[in-house]
Amino acid sequence: MPKNKLKTPDWILKGGKKPDKKKEGPTGVSSGVKTFKIKECPKCKSDDVGVMITGEECKGGKCDWECRKCKWRGANIIERELTEDEFMKYLDDKKVELPDENELKKDFKKTIESADSEDFGDED
Ligand SMILES: [Zn+2]
Repeated sequence: MPKNKLKTPDWILKGGKKPDKKKEGPTGVSSGVKTFKIKECPKCKSDDVGVMITGEECKGGKCDWECRKCKWRGANIIERELTEDEFMKYLDDKKVELPDENELKKDFKKTIESADSEDFGDED
């Protein structure tokens, strides 16, 4: 991602003094919006991707990814940043793949009932 070059601040152009702190609302500054990162297969756009366990650590910060859908493998996975709204929509679209709602409720209930038990096993 190319970064914008530093621009001469307005207060210099206007020949004024450096404003103390940011009292007036700054424009174009990050508003602290929460974002969610998702990964997609560059080939079939599926998000059913995972890091390949190769026995080696990711080299240079780059991991090898594998698409479970089309069997694509590589390091240049697509990363998308979604806002909370977009992410909710994204989850909505995915809903089809989630387990039955009743199953979820059952599980949820079970989780509450056995909150302090060790029933926390990972599923494959
Ligand atoms: Zn794929």
